[in-house]
Amino acid sequence: MIPPQSLCTKCVFTLIPVGDIYPTTRRAKIRVVEGYMNQAGQFPEERIAISHVVLIASMHFLAVAALFVPSRAGLLCLLVMHVITGLGVTIGYHRLLSHGAVKTSPFIRGVFALFGTLSLQGGPLLWVTFHRAHHLWNEDRRDPHSSARGFLWSHLLWMFYKNPNGFSQMRSRTLVRDLSSSSWLKFLDKNAMAINLTAAAIFFVIFRRMDLLLWAFPLRIVVLWHCAWLVNSYCHRASLVGKERKSILRNSFLVAMIGYGEGWHQNHHLRPDSANFQHKWWQIDPGWMVIRILEISKLAKRNYKTRSGKRLGQEFRGKRIAA
Ligand SMILES: [Zn+2]
Ligand SMILES: [Zn+2]
Repeated sequence: MIPPQSLCTKCVFTLIPVGDIYPTTRRAKIRVVEGYMNQAGQFPEERIAISHVVLIASMHFLAVAALFVPSRAGLLCLLVMHVITGLGVTIGYHRLLSHGAVKTSPFIRGVFALFGTLSLQGGPLLWVTFHRAHHLWNEDRRDPHSSARGFLWSHLLWMFYKNPNGFSQMRSRTLVRDLSSSSWLKFLDKNAMAINLTAAAIFFVIFRRMDLLLWAFPLRIVVLWHCAWLVNSYCHRASLVGKERKSILRNSFLVAMIGYGEGWHQNHHLRPDSANFQHKWWQIDPGWMVIRILEISKLAKRNYKTRSGKRLGQEFRGKRIAA
């Protein structure tokens, strides 16, 4: 976490980091990456996940194919599914499951987790494991998508590996021990791909149009992927202050609008236990608006008594998590 005074608070669209800790020159950027390597000058040992590479590449191919069959109905399907699955990620996966910032009934929680699963970003337990590791070891060696390895790594490349940054999901299961008693979450986690394929098949059986299918699934999923990935890449930048690596965070109006509030990422890291990412009146947070509607309808309750991000980290640190 960085001291707020090191950031420009006057810019409307982004909080531009100022001062000499932001790595603006090529040489400074190289220093950040070098600071990341081990003493032998190597990155952690990693194994390529062929299935991930094939999935991401083929989805992009199908997304481009969708653009050759433009359709107004397809665009409508894309937008509706984007909203449902985008809220599933920001409310379900992120604010509800990862940080416990919202309390709901198991049914509402299960529905949002299902919506998140339909974003094809992995099952809920996998997503939460990666995300809690990100908060716990922010920009450090065990942060799977640490921006210390550059924009492309934190945006996309980290997913090409089974153990990004040497991170082991198996050895980090204690990160989600509070959620692993839920058989529904475990079911979604194990069958995330099958659930997405089944949803696509049901969609095709109902509408019987290939163009709608291409827009509602591959194109919508790829668009949502990049909306979410920009939070890790555009809103994060690692920098060295002396020998210590710091995380420079950025709020972005654009990323917040396409990511249902996720773009207020500096706000989120400053207060990870808050369900509301909006710290100023103009920082519109659609995810928070939906939570407020649920709260007014007595279907959800913000949980201010949850552990702060810092204390959450200390607690997990105490469990000797190896990664
Ligand atoms: Zn972050
Ligand atoms: Zn978070």
